[in-house]
Amino acid sequence: MIEEKISARAKNIKPSSTLAVNKKAAELIAAGERVINLSVGEPDFDTPEFIKQSAINALNQGFTKYTDSSGIKPLRQAICEKFKRDNNLVYQPDQIVVSCGAKHSLFNIMLAICDEGDEVIIPAPYWVSYPEMVKLAGGKCVVCRYNEDFKIDIEHLKSIITKKTKALILNSPSNPTGIVYTRQELQQIAEIVCQHKIIVISDEVYEKLIYDGQKHVSIASLGDDIKKLTVVVNGLSKTYSMTGWRIGYLAAELSLAKSIANIQSQTTSNPTSFVQKAALEAILADQSFVEKMVEEFERRRNYILENISPLITYCRPAGAFYLLLKIGDMPSTQLAQRLLEEEKLATVPGDDFGADGFVRISFATDMENIKETIKRLNRFAERMKK
Ligand code: PMP
Ligand code: GLU
Repeated sequence: MIEEKISARAKNIKPSSTLAVNKKAAELIAAGERVINLSVGEPDFDTPEFIKQSAINALNQGFTKYTDSSGIKPLRQAICEKFKRDNNLVYQPDQIVVSCGAKHSLFNIMLAICDEGDEVIIPAPYWVSYPEMVKLAGGKCVVCRYNEDFKIDIEHLKSIITKKTKALILNSPSNPTGIVYTRQELQQIAEIVCQHKIIVISDEVYEKLIYDGQKHVSIASLGDDIKKLTVVVNGLSKTYSMTGWRIGYLAAELSLAKSIANIQSQTTSNPTSFVQKAALEAILADQSFVEKMVEEFERRRNYILENISPLITYCRPAGAFYLLLKIGDMPSTQLAQRLLEEEKLATVPGDDFGADGFVRISFATDMENIKETIKRLNRFAERMKK
Protein backbone atom coordinates (compact mmCIF):
# COMPACT_ATOMS: atom_id res chain seq x y z
CA MET A 1 0.00 0.00 0.00
CA ILE A 2 2.73 2.44 0.97
CA GLU A 3 4.81 1.35 -2.02
CA GLU A 4 2.59 3.17 -4.48
CA LYS A 5 3.22 6.38 -2.55
CA ILE A 6 6.95 6.28 -3.26
CA SER A 7 8.01 8.96 -5.73
CA ALA A 8 9.00 8.08 -9.28
CA ARG A 9 12.26 9.88 -8.55
CA ALA A 10 13.09 7.57 -5.65
CA LYS A 11 11.97 4.44 -7.53
CA ASN A 12 14.27 5.40 -10.36
CA ILE A 13 17.39 5.29 -8.16
CA LYS A 14 19.65 2.25 -7.93
CA PRO A 15 21.44 1.45 -4.69
CA SER A 16 25.19 2.11 -4.75
CA SER A 17 26.76 -1.07 -6.13
CA THR A 18 30.13 -0.40 -4.48
CA LEU A 19 28.46 -0.28 -1.09
CA ALA A 20 26.12 -3.19 -1.92
CA VAL A 21 28.96 -5.56 -2.89
CA ASN A 22 30.90 -4.47 0.18
CA LYS A 23 27.94 -5.39 2.38
CA LYS A 24 27.48 -8.74 0.67
CA ALA A 25 31.20 -9.56 0.97
CA ALA A 26 31.21 -8.63 4.66
CA GLU A 27 28.22 -10.95 5.23
CA LEU A 28 29.96 -13.85 3.45
CA ILE A 29 33.13 -13.30 5.48
CA ALA A 30 31.11 -13.15 8.71
CA ALA A 31 29.51 -16.46 7.70
CA GLY A 32 32.99 -18.01 7.52
CA GLU A 33 33.61 -17.87 3.74
CA ARG A 34 37.23 -17.12 2.73
CA VAL A 35 36.24 -14.24 0.47
CA ILE A 36 38.73 -11.47 -0.36
CA ASN A 37 36.82 -8.21 -0.36
CA LEU A 38 38.08 -6.03 -3.20
CA SER A 39 34.88 -4.05 -3.55
CA VAL A 40 34.69 -0.81 -1.65
CA GLY A 41 37.25 1.92 -2.26
CA GLU A 42 38.59 3.08 1.06
CA PRO A 43 42.14 3.23 2.41
CA ASP A 44 42.90 0.27 4.67
CA PHE A 45 44.97 2.48 7.01
CA ASP A 46 43.69 3.84 10.29
CA THR A 47 43.03 7.58 10.57
CA PRO A 48 46.26 9.17 11.92
CA GLU A 49 46.29 9.47 15.71
CA PHE A 50 46.69 13.26 15.85
CA ILE A 51 43.53 13.69 13.76
CA LYS A 52 41.56 11.45 16.10
CA GLN A 53 42.96 13.35 19.05
CA SER A 54 41.79 16.70 17.72
CA ALA A 55 38.22 15.37 17.44
CA ILE A 56 38.46 14.01 21.01
CA ASN A 57 39.76 17.38 22.24
CA ALA A 58 36.94 19.20 20.46
CA LEU A 59 34.39 16.89 22.12
CA ASN A 60 35.98 17.35 25.53
CA GLN A 61 35.92 21.12 25.05
CA GLY A 62 32.19 20.96 24.36
CA PHE A 63 32.45 21.76 20.65
CA THR A 64 29.22 19.86 20.10
CA LYS A 65 26.74 22.44 18.85
CA TYR A 66 25.52 23.70 15.48
CA THR A 67 28.13 25.59 13.51
CA ASP A 68 28.06 27.92 10.54
CA SER A 69 26.20 25.77 8.02
CA SER A 70 28.96 26.08 5.39
CA GLY A 71 31.58 25.04 7.94
CA ILE A 72 33.51 26.99 10.57
CA LYS A 73 35.47 29.93 9.20
CA PRO A 74 38.93 28.68 10.34
CA LEU A 75 38.32 25.45 8.42
CA ARG A 76 37.23 27.32 5.31
CA GLN A 77 40.34 29.49 5.65
CA ALA A 78 42.51 26.38 5.98
CA ILE A 79 40.88 24.95 2.85
CA CYS A 80 41.74 28.19 1.01
CA GLU A 81 45.35 27.75 2.16
CA LYS A 82 45.29 24.16 0.93
CA PHE A 83 44.05 25.25 -2.50
CA LYS A 84 46.86 27.82 -2.69
CA ARG A 85 49.51 25.40 -1.38
CA ASP A 86 48.57 22.36 -3.47
CA ASN A 87 46.74 23.67 -6.52
CA ASN A 88 47.86 27.28 -6.94
CA LEU A 89 44.21 28.34 -6.68
CA VAL A 90 43.07 31.45 -4.85
CA TYR A 91 39.65 31.33 -3.21
CA GLN A 92 38.04 33.33 -0.40
CA PRO A 93 36.39 31.52 2.54
CA ASP A 94 32.91 32.52 1.23
CA GLN A 95 33.59 30.45 -1.86
CA ILE A 96 34.04 27.28 0.20
CA VAL A 97 31.23 25.00 1.38
CA VAL A 98 32.15 22.14 3.70
CA SER A 99 29.76 19.17 3.62
CA CYS A 100 29.33 15.64 4.96
CA GLY A 101 31.72 14.03 2.46
CA ALA A 102 32.60 14.83 -1.14
CA LYS A 103 29.58 12.75 -2.10
CA HIS A 104 27.38 15.25 -0.29
CA SER A 105 29.22 18.18 -1.94
CA LEU A 106 28.57 16.60 -5.34
CA PHE A 107 24.88 16.11 -4.65
CA ASN A 108 24.54 19.70 -3.41
CA ILE A 109 26.10 20.85 -6.70
CA MET A 110 23.63 18.80 -8.76
CA LEU A 111 20.72 20.32 -6.82
CA ALA A 112 22.13 23.79 -7.36
CA ILE A 113 22.67 23.51 -11.12
CA CYS A 114 20.07 21.12 -12.54
CA ASP A 115 16.66 22.23 -13.66
CA GLU A 116 14.34 19.51 -14.96
CA GLY A 117 15.85 17.98 -18.09
CA ASP A 118 19.19 19.80 -17.95
CA GLU A 119 21.98 17.65 -19.31
CA VAL A 120 25.11 16.67 -17.42
CA ILE A 121 27.89 14.99 -19.37
CA ILE A 122 29.46 12.06 -17.55
CA PRO A 123 32.54 10.55 -19.19
CA ALA A 124 32.64 6.75 -18.96
CA PRO A 125 33.97 4.83 -17.13
CA TYR A 126 32.50 6.85 -14.26
CA TRP A 127 31.98 6.52 -10.53
CA VAL A 128 28.66 4.76 -9.86
CA SER A 129 27.06 7.63 -7.95
CA TYR A 130 27.31 10.39 -10.58
CA PRO A 131 24.39 9.31 -12.80
CA GLU A 132 22.12 8.60 -9.85
CA MET A 133 22.83 12.02 -8.29
CA VAL A 134 22.08 13.78 -11.57
CA LYS A 135 18.81 11.85 -11.91
CA LEU A 136 17.81 12.60 -8.32
CA ALA A 137 18.30 16.30 -9.00
CA GLY A 138 16.03 16.10 -12.07
CA GLY A 139 18.86 16.28 -14.59
CA LYS A 140 19.57 14.02 -17.55
CA CYS A 141 22.85 12.07 -17.84
CA VAL A 142 24.61 12.10 -21.15
CA VAL A 143 27.43 9.58 -21.24
CA CYS A 144 30.61 10.49 -23.12
CA ARG A 145 32.52 7.62 -24.73
CA TYR A 146 36.10 6.78 -23.80
CA ASN A 147 39.07 6.37 -26.11
CA GLU A 148 41.73 3.61 -26.17
CA ASP A 149 43.38 5.17 -23.08
CA PHE A 150 40.10 5.10 -21.12
CA LYS A 151 40.01 8.91 -21.34
CA ILE A 152 37.39 11.29 -22.78
CA ASP A 153 36.85 10.78 -26.51
CA ILE A 154 37.20 14.46 -27.41
CA GLU A 155 35.32 14.24 -30.71
CA HIS A 156 32.43 12.51 -29.00
CA LEU A 157 32.44 15.15 -26.25
CA LYS A 158 32.15 17.92 -28.83
CA SER A 159 29.29 16.11 -30.57
CA ILE A 160 27.11 15.65 -27.46
CA ILE A 161 27.15 19.24 -26.22
CA THR A 162 23.71 20.81 -26.70
CA LYS A 163 21.93 23.97 -25.53
CA LYS A 164 20.74 21.96 -22.54
CA THR A 165 24.24 20.95 -21.41
CA LYS A 166 24.81 22.40 -17.95
CA ALA A 167 27.92 20.61 -16.80
CA LEU A 168 30.68 18.13 -17.44
CA ILE A 169 31.97 15.91 -14.63
CA LEU A 170 35.70 15.41 -14.60
CA ASN A 171 37.38 12.96 -12.25
CA SER A 172 41.17 12.85 -12.27
CA PRO A 173 42.65 10.62 -10.88
CA SER A 174 39.67 8.54 -11.79
CA ASN A 175 37.51 6.00 -10.07
CA PRO A 176 37.26 3.27 -11.49
CA THR A 177 40.17 3.43 -13.99
CA GLY A 178 42.94 5.30 -12.14
CA ILE A 179 43.67 7.37 -15.26
CA VAL A 180 45.17 10.83 -14.70
CA TYR A 181 44.70 13.66 -17.18
CA THR A 182 47.80 15.57 -18.25
CA ARG A 183 47.96 19.37 -18.30
CA GLN A 184 47.69 19.33 -22.11
CA GLU A 185 44.63 17.12 -22.07
CA LEU A 186 42.99 19.34 -19.46
CA GLN A 187 43.81 22.38 -21.56
CA GLN A 188 42.02 20.81 -24.52
CA ILE A 189 38.96 20.05 -22.37
CA ALA A 190 39.06 23.56 -20.84
CA GLU A 191 38.97 25.13 -24.28
CA ILE A 192 35.84 23.23 -25.24
CA VAL A 193 34.16 24.00 -21.94
CA CYS A 194 34.98 27.72 -22.12
CA GLN A 195 33.77 27.92 -25.70
CA HIS A 196 30.37 26.48 -24.71
CA LYS A 197 30.27 28.02 -21.21
CA ILE A 198 29.63 24.74 -19.45
CA ILE A 199 30.27 24.17 -15.76
CA VAL A 200 33.03 21.69 -14.92
CA ILE A 201 32.52 19.65 -11.78
CA SER A 202 36.08 18.61 -11.05
CA ASP A 203 36.11 15.74 -8.57
CA GLU A 204 39.65 15.70 -7.18
CA VAL A 205 39.22 13.38 -4.19
CA TYR A 206 42.11 11.17 -5.36
CA GLU A 207 44.46 14.10 -6.01
CA LYS A 208 47.14 12.83 -3.60
CA LEU A 209 46.99 9.22 -4.75
CA ILE A 210 49.10 9.59 -7.84
CA TYR A 211 52.09 7.52 -8.95
CA ASP A 212 55.19 7.48 -11.18
CA GLY A 213 56.26 10.90 -9.85
CA GLN A 214 53.38 12.62 -11.64
CA LYS A 215 51.72 15.75 -10.27
CA HIS A 216 48.00 16.36 -10.05
CA VAL A 217 46.75 19.34 -12.05
CA SER A 218 43.41 20.94 -11.23
CA ILE A 219 41.64 22.10 -14.39
CA ALA A 220 40.60 25.23 -12.45
CA SER A 221 44.25 26.30 -12.27
CA LEU A 222 44.58 26.64 -16.05
CA GLY A 223 43.29 30.21 -16.26
CA ASP A 224 40.70 32.69 -15.01
CA ASP A 225 37.98 31.73 -17.48
CA ILE A 226 38.05 28.03 -16.68
CA LYS A 227 38.39 28.74 -12.95
CA LYS A 228 35.14 30.72 -13.04
CA LEU A 229 33.34 27.79 -14.65
CA THR A 230 34.78 25.10 -12.37
CA VAL A 231 33.53 23.74 -9.10
CA VAL A 232 36.39 21.89 -7.43
CA VAL A 233 35.33 19.04 -5.15
CA ASN A 234 37.66 17.42 -2.67
CA GLY A 235 37.47 15.60 0.63
CA LEU A 236 39.38 14.04 3.48
CA SER A 237 38.21 10.43 3.04
CA LYS A 238 41.02 9.27 0.77
CA THR A 239 43.91 11.58 1.65
CA TYR A 240 43.66 11.10 5.40
CA SER A 241 41.89 7.71 5.64
CA MET A 242 38.75 9.34 7.01
CA THR A 243 35.98 7.65 5.03
CA GLY A 244 33.70 7.12 8.02
CA TRP A 245 34.07 10.66 9.34
CA ARG A 246 32.05 12.10 6.43
CA ILE A 247 33.71 15.36 5.56
CA GLY A 248 34.36 16.95 2.18
CA TYR A 249 34.26 20.37 0.55
CA LEU A 250 33.94 22.37 -2.61
CA ALA A 251 35.11 25.68 -4.02
CA ALA A 252 33.10 27.64 -6.56
CA GLU A 253 32.35 31.10 -7.87
CA LEU A 254 30.63 33.13 -5.18
CA SER A 255 27.09 33.08 -6.64
CA LEU A 256 27.10 29.29 -7.01
CA ALA A 257 28.78 28.78 -3.64
CA LYS A 258 26.01 30.88 -2.06
CA SER A 259 23.24 28.81 -3.69
CA ILE A 260 24.90 25.62 -2.52
CA ALA A 261 25.24 27.08 0.97
CA ASN A 262 21.51 27.91 0.97
CA ILE A 263 20.63 24.33 -0.01
CA GLN A 264 22.81 22.94 2.73
CA SER A 265 21.47 25.34 5.35
CA GLN A 266 17.95 24.07 4.64
CA THR A 267 18.85 20.37 4.52
CA THR A 268 21.74 19.11 6.63
CA SER A 269 22.64 22.35 8.45
CA ASN A 270 26.36 21.96 9.12
CA PRO A 271 28.85 19.12 8.78
CA THR A 272 29.52 17.47 12.18
CA SER A 273 31.07 20.05 14.52
CA PHE A 274 33.98 18.09 16.03
CA VAL A 275 34.86 16.47 12.69
CA GLN A 276 35.44 19.97 11.34
CA LYS A 277 38.06 20.58 14.06
CA ALA A 278 39.80 17.34 13.12
CA ALA A 279 39.67 18.28 9.43
CA LEU A 280 41.29 21.61 10.20
CA GLU A 281 44.21 19.87 11.95
CA ALA A 282 44.60 17.36 9.12
CA ILE A 283 44.70 20.00 6.39
CA LEU A 284 47.17 22.29 8.16
CA ALA A 285 49.52 19.53 9.42
CA ASP A 286 52.83 18.56 7.90
CA GLN A 287 51.69 16.27 5.06
CA SER A 288 54.56 13.78 5.05
CA PHE A 289 52.38 11.03 6.53
CA VAL A 290 50.26 11.16 3.37
CA GLU A 291 53.36 10.45 1.28
CA LYS A 292 53.99 7.24 3.23
CA MET A 293 50.51 5.97 2.46
CA VAL A 294 50.90 6.85 -1.21
CA GLU A 295 54.25 4.99 -1.36
CA GLU A 296 52.52 1.89 -0.03
CA PHE A 297 49.72 2.14 -2.61
CA GLU A 298 52.30 2.55 -5.36
CA ARG A 299 54.19 -0.53 -4.13
CA ARG A 300 50.98 -2.56 -4.31
CA ARG A 301 50.07 -1.21 -7.72
CA ASN A 302 53.55 -2.08 -9.01
CA TYR A 303 53.23 -5.62 -7.67
CA ILE A 304 49.93 -6.02 -9.50
CA LEU A 305 51.30 -4.66 -12.78
CA GLU A 306 54.38 -6.87 -12.56
CA ASN A 307 52.47 -10.05 -11.79
CA ILE A 308 49.12 -9.85 -13.55
CA SER A 309 48.65 -12.35 -16.37
CA PRO A 310 48.88 -11.06 -19.96
CA LEU A 311 45.58 -12.90 -20.50
CA ILE A 312 43.86 -10.17 -18.48
CA THR A 313 42.88 -6.87 -20.13
CA TYR A 314 43.10 -3.86 -17.83
CA CYS A 315 43.52 -0.11 -17.60
CA ARG A 316 46.93 0.80 -16.15
CA PRO A 317 46.24 2.95 -13.07
CA ALA A 318 48.38 6.09 -12.78
CA GLY A 319 46.49 7.13 -9.66
CA ALA A 320 43.74 6.16 -7.14
CA PHE A 321 43.62 2.54 -5.95
CA TYR A 322 41.52 0.68 -8.46
CA LEU A 323 42.13 -1.71 -11.30
CA LEU A 324 39.45 -2.05 -13.96
CA LEU A 325 39.90 -5.41 -15.61
CA LYS A 326 38.34 -7.85 -18.02
CA ILE A 327 38.77 -11.60 -18.35
CA GLY A 328 37.24 -13.43 -21.29
CA ASP A 329 34.14 -12.14 -22.96
CA MET A 330 31.10 -12.02 -20.73
CA PRO A 331 28.86 -9.39 -19.15
CA SER A 332 30.26 -7.71 -16.03
CA THR A 333 27.70 -9.18 -13.67
CA GLN A 334 28.51 -12.70 -14.86
CA LEU A 335 32.25 -12.10 -14.49
CA ALA A 336 31.78 -10.70 -10.97
CA GLN A 337 29.48 -13.60 -10.07
CA ARG A 338 31.94 -16.20 -11.35
CA LEU A 339 34.91 -14.55 -9.62
CA LEU A 340 32.95 -14.65 -6.39
CA GLU A 341 31.75 -18.23 -6.74
CA GLU A 342 34.83 -19.81 -8.28
CA GLU A 343 37.65 -17.74 -6.78
CA LYS A 344 36.03 -16.10 -3.74
CA LEU A 345 36.92 -12.63 -4.97
CA ALA A 346 34.39 -9.85 -4.33
CA THR A 347 34.63 -7.32 -7.18
CA VAL A 348 32.25 -4.63 -8.44
CA PRO A 349 30.67 -5.24 -11.88
CA GLY A 350 31.72 -2.60 -14.42
CA ASP A 351 28.29 -2.01 -15.95
CA ASP A 352 27.38 0.41 -13.15
CA PHE A 353 30.57 2.31 -14.05
CA GLY A 354 29.61 2.46 -17.73
CA ALA A 355 32.20 -0.23 -18.56
CA ASP A 356 30.35 -3.44 -19.32
CA GLY A 357 32.51 -6.55 -19.56
CA PHE A 358 34.85 -5.21 -16.85
CA VAL A 359 34.97 -5.57 -13.09
CA ARG A 360 36.68 -3.22 -10.65
CA ILE A 361 38.98 -4.30 -7.85
CA SER A 362 40.30 -1.99 -5.15
CA PHE A 363 43.92 -2.49 -4.10
CA ALA A 364 43.37 -0.66 -0.83
CA THR A 365 43.98 -3.93 0.95
CA ASP A 366 47.11 -5.54 2.37
CA MET A 367 49.91 -7.11 0.32
CA GLU A 368 48.99 -10.63 1.39
CA ASN A 369 45.46 -10.19 0.00
CA ILE A 370 46.85 -8.61 -3.15
CA LYS A 371 49.23 -11.52 -3.81
CA GLU A 372 46.44 -14.01 -3.27
CA THR A 373 44.09 -11.98 -5.48
CA ILE A 374 46.54 -11.92 -8.38
CA LYS A 375 47.09 -15.67 -8.01
CA ARG A 376 43.35 -16.31 -8.18
CA LEU A 377 42.73 -13.86 -11.06
CA ASN A 378 45.56 -15.38 -13.09
CA ARG A 379 44.27 -18.91 -12.38
CA PHE A 380 40.78 -17.88 -13.49
CA ALA A 381 42.19 -16.30 -16.67
CA GLU A 382 44.07 -19.55 -17.47
CA ARG A 383 40.84 -21.53 -17.08
CA MET A 384 38.95 -19.12 -19.31
CA LYS A 385 41.54 -19.57 -22.07
CA LYS A 386 40.82 -23.29 -22.37
N1 PMP B 1 34.21 10.92 -5.75
C1 PMP B 1 34.75 9.75 -6.09
C2 PMP B 1 35.30 9.56 -7.44
C3 PMP B 1 34.76 8.70 -5.16
O1 PMP B 1 35.30 7.53 -5.51
C4 PMP B 1 34.19 8.88 -3.90
C5 PMP B 1 34.08 7.71 -2.98
N2 PMP B 1 34.70 7.83 -1.85
C6 PMP B 1 33.67 10.15 -3.58
C7 PMP B 1 33.68 11.14 -4.54
C8 PMP B 1 33.04 10.47 -2.28
O2 PMP B 1 33.92 10.48 -1.21
P1 PMP B 1 33.48 10.93 0.25
O3 PMP B 1 32.02 11.21 0.22
O4 PMP B 1 33.82 9.80 1.14
O5 PMP B 1 34.27 12.18 0.54
N1 GLU C 1 34.05 5.75 -3.60
C1 GLU C 1 34.26 4.48 -3.01
C2 GLU C 1 34.03 3.40 -4.05
O1 GLU C 1 33.84 3.68 -5.19
C3 GLU C 1 33.46 4.33 -1.75
C4 GLU C 1 32.08 3.79 -1.84
C5 GLU C 1 31.14 4.73 -2.48
O2 GLU C 1 30.81 5.73 -1.86
O3 GLU C 1 30.80 4.44 -3.63
O4 GLU C 1 34.09 2.24 -3.71
